[in-house]
Amino acid sequence: MDVTRRGWLGLAGMAAASTQASAITIRPMVADPTGFAPAPGIAHLKYNENPLGPPPSAIKAMADLARSGWYYADDAEGRLAAMIGKRLGVPASQVVLGHGSSEVITSAALAWGRRGTILMPALQFDEPLLYPMAQGLSYRRVAMAPDMGIDLGALARAAAAPDVAMIYLCNPNNPTGMMLPAADLLAFARALPPRVTLLVDEAYMELADDPAGSTMLPLIQGGANVIVTRTFSKLFGMAGLRIGYAVASPANAGELKRHRITISLNAPGLAAAIAAWDDGAFQQQSRTSIIAARRVLQAAVAKAGTIALPSQTNFLFVKVANADRFAAAMAQRGILVRGAWGPAWPEWSRVSTGRLPDVERYAAALPELMRA
Ligand code: PLP
Repeated sequence: MDVTRRGWLGLAGMAAASTQASAITIRPMVADPTGFAPAPGIAHLKYNENPLGPPPSAIKAMADLARSGWYYADDAEGRLAAMIGKRLGVPASQVVLGHGSSEVITSAALAWGRRGTILMPALQFDEPLLYPMAQGLSYRRVAMAPDMGIDLGALARAAAAPDVAMIYLCNPNNPTGMMLPAADLLAFARALPPRVTLLVDEAYMELADDPAGSTMLPLIQGGANVIVTRTFSKLFGMAGLRIGYAVASPANAGELKRHRITISLNAPGLAAAIAAWDDGAFQQQSRTSIIAARRVLQAAVAKAGTIALPSQTNFLFVKVANADRFAAAMAQRGILVRGAWGPAWPEWSRVSTGRLPDVERYAAALPELMRA
């Protein structure tokens, strides 16, 4: 049995609700005997992983480094931060690496959650807040717009409360896949009270239609009170290698570093990330294959006579009769997708792009099972 990462997200249905963790769910293990991959015959389409990775360049780097595994990897950490900073236009000191982007988001929630309340959209990935909640910190959910997008107006109104210290939002969002218009988010960020830090989680940004035009990184270059987080788990296909990062102002980067877990970075993950960062051919191939798989899913959804939200990510949020029954019926056929995200969205099931044959299995089963 494994303890799921995602069981407590049922809370997400509560708009503007105060925080409390629901029970972590237990479900049958679906791993192969090594524990590192799904069992044969299982289509794993529920964690937004990327089957193309890690790239061969990263696999070679990990193999080459294996014998040096007895050293702490501090220098490699500095090297990766410098490479990221160079490409993104900030000094290495403003890049904060983490054990996945989850760690830097958790660090932010720990630091800012002690100063005041954290706001976040009701329908949004929130796992990095689980540990801060266990430490007694809390956050407040803000209702979504009628189209299930993030309601920036409602967030701005909620941010006027004097206790608000941070807003955490994902762009593109998970589980909807939807992207906020860059101009709207820029205007929103600029109008926030100076005491409110905006954390924009860009885990899926490299998969978006126009990453350069949509990212909030330029705000940081301009000194704004904004933190952007990114990850090697999605575009780079390295979810199991656990490397992510934040980009922030010198002051905010310092605050994040003070709240990091000590020596959390692992050498194989760093080696893989350093190799993949400059592997432009792989990144292009990864983006292309994800978009192709997303189109297969979108066509299947249309053919089945249902709808999905407009996604710029490696997953779709698909409308079915009942998401929990749908996920259970899919699981009976060895296809793992997400059930209902919370009580407010019982009809929406998230499916990840995954391996093409797995996506095709989902597409074939959808017309029948969407009525389950
Ligand atoms: N942010 C979002 C929006 C996600 O969907 C995920 C994982 O699915 C993460 C962050 C965490 O990614 P990681 O910790 O692997 O970088």
